[in-house]
Amino acid sequence: MKPESLRVALDAKGFLDPDEGLALHRAGLRAAASGLGPLLEIGTYCGKSAVYLGEAAREGGAILFSIDHHRGSEEIQPGWEHHDPEVVDARTGRMDTLPFARRTIADAGLEDHVVLIVGSSIVVAAGWAKPLALVFIDGGHGTDVEWADYRAWSPLIAPGGWLAIHDVFADPTAGGRPPYEIYRAALGTGEFTEDEAGGCGSLRVLRRRPA
Ligand code: SAH
Ligand code: MG
Repeated sequence: MKPESLRVALDAKGFLDPDEGLALHRAGLRAAASGLGPLLEIGTYCGKSAVYLGEAAREGGAILFSIDHHRGSEEIQPGWEHHDPEVVDARTGRMDTLPFARRTIADAGLEDHVVLIVGSSIVVAAGWAKPLALVFIDGGHGTDVEWADYRAWSPLIAPGGWLAIHDVFADPTAGGRPPYEIYRAALGTGEFTEDEAGGCGSLRVLRRRPA
């Protein structure tokens, strides 16, 4: 990871620890080098994880697509613990993280390697056909949203490709259930196994069985 990009990732607003970011970058590098297809993340927010994955894409000669409607998940709206008033658009009173994400990607010099897609992940998935080398699920963590992302995107992972999931907590007192549920579900299909490169913190990295 280029030190300049790492600096941008560390400075960006967001919800990924540096160690998790570097683990994501490692998984992204393997995926980008696999030649199986582009990388895709659900949940850009202000672009922190997109820099770790985007750097991997750049180094491996791939592209990262990063999806977000930029209106914030239910759990980061005003009044919630992780809400940041700086990302509220004063004109509308709604969250808008797109300007932050755009700036982060530009600052990291990744505009040719990261494509920001503004929209609902499910709407985008409905129009998506290309197999993916890696899918990183870090969007809304409500039960319906998390499961919808898993159901829509995991079948689009190429055989031999990677599935990364953030905010996976085995201990129910450490965090919400849905990311852990989809992680267990993926393992339960027999299609996915824990990748030897491994996760870090609440990041889990799985690999799809090769064809
Ligand atoms: N990966 C980010 C954090 C993502 S926070 C980081 O590195 O810091 C979760 C993001 O998911 C929020 O920005 C929210 O707007 C987005 N989101 C939630 N539900 C979504 C949906 N259904 N479609 C698109 N984006 C969604
Ligand atoms: Mg997260």
